[in-house]
Amino acid sequence: MEGGMKPMDAEQLRENAHKMVDFIADYYKSIESFPVLSQVEPGYLRKIIPDSAPNQPESLQNVLDDIQAKIIPGVTHWQSPNFFGYFPSNSSIAGFLGEMLSGGLNIVGFSWVTSPAATELETIVLDWLAKMLKLPEDFLSSGQGGGVIQGTASEAVLVVLLAARDKALRMFGRNSIGKLVVYASDQTHSALRKACQIGGIHAENCRLLKTDSSTNYALSPEVLTEAISQDTASGLVPFFLCATVGTTSSTAVDPLLALGKIAKDNKMWFHIDAAYAGSACICPEYRHYLNGVEEADSFNMNAHKWLLTNFDCSVLWVKDRSALIQSLSTNPEYLKNKASEGNMVVDYKDWQIPLGRRFRSLKLWMMLRLYGQENLLNYLRNHIELAKYFEELVSVDQRFEIVVPRTFSLVCFRLLPPQGDEDCINKMNRDLLEVVNSTGKIFLSHTILSGKYILRLAVGAPLTEGRHISAAWKVLQDEATTLLEQYMKT
Ligand code: PLP
Repeated sequence: MEGGMKPMDAEQLRENAHKMVDFIADYYKSIESFPVLSQVEPGYLRKIIPDSAPNQPESLQNVLDDIQAKIIPGVTHWQSPNFFGYFPSNSSIAGFLGEMLSGGLNIVGFSWVTSPAATELETIVLDWLAKMLKLPEDFLSSGQGGGVIQGTASEAVLVVLLAARDKALRMFGRNSIGKLVVYASDQTHSALRKACQIGGIHAENCRLLKTDSSTNYALSPEVLTEAISQDTASGLVPFFLCATVGTTSSTAVDPLLALGKIAKDNKMWFHIDAAYAGSACICPEYRHYLNGVEEADSFNMNAHKWLLTNFDCSVLWVKDRSALIQSLSTNPEYLKNKASEGNMVVDYKDWQIPLGRRFRSLKLWMMLRLYGQENLLNYLRNHIELAKYFEELVSVDQRFEIVVPRTFSLVCFRLLPPQGDEDCINKMNRDLLEVVNSTGKIFLSHTILSGKYILRLAVGAPLTEGRHISAAWKVLQDEATTLLEQYMKT
């Protein structure tokens, strides 16, 4: 067959990829000109895109024009320096180059043999990162443990829950699944609940223990002990405890050491989710938030959140890799090979849900090499300083209050008018968030703690500087002034 299309041709790739890189570089150059939160209405795209795929090829330029005109308006600009919502999702030149290379090679590294470099680099880079976090040696690949890159923290939590469940079932019998109980605080990310749903843990055996402002929303060891005693007295089997370092709502840090000891006394699997705040713990002055990690069976953090590694890259370490492998390995004939049969290699397909896996370690490796540890510490510290600066700005305006003390780079605050009940204050803050985000100048998200509607400003986008924080505060103050005036009139 001759004269057909050439889906891969080195020279065409060079030409087109250069155009795409130019397009992306231009995007970053003009990123501040877009409304941070996309302003489109649901269903906007169907109205402007044809009903079916084209029969004949179109030019790249036509497609790029469409991206500019039709897709970009429907993008919320996570990489904008004025994006302060949720938690950050970092992009960097190094992360992007790694992502590009991973896409370019496009290998599928499920077993060692399918691309030895993909497996081996992942093991090595996760050992590097474990050392940067000063994780105990048990988590390194040299012993019984090791690290693996998952797509997201949700997958990380799921796979360790499955490993823990199966370990418990081996101990207590297959029929005891209805007795297995999971513990965590009510601030734990919903990924845990989803993992329980998928893992067959009964919803009524998922204890999300209440927290409040007296512990800054951290899980109390006494509350946990009490819940475990009640459950064991009723014949239930506590088997999994999930602690969080940096909860999603307010970056609360659970007391790892005390919780870990309780988990050990009750022979439970102890997992630590540090999806966001784990990155900060590479800084010596924040490492103490991980004290107690030595008690854990597993630990995860998202390098794609705050460590300059483009999405997706969630890193998970376990002390006993065989527990994961026992739960997740399969060995069909068509995948058998000498290296795997000889037990000489790691096959990461057995540490995760899917079979196929991307060469994600490239972006982590490139990020670490192109920036170096010292720059990374300064990068994180700068965001924390910027958050501190914002916190100071809020604290001197009597119309606002800081709701929980800041720990990392998230500030939780709200407008607190001189009069009005809690419902009225909540409504006012909801309105404030709505108007602020609809300006398109900045984007923040919210949470509710103890019935209070709270605004969250998370610093962490790679382009954010002090001037963006000052400008964000001005938008918030101006909109608050207008809102308060309106409320006074009604
Ligand atoms: N755990 C925590 C503490 C989080 O903050 C988040 C997301 O923000 C997650 C888990 C879920 O992350 P992912 O989207 O990687 O599943």
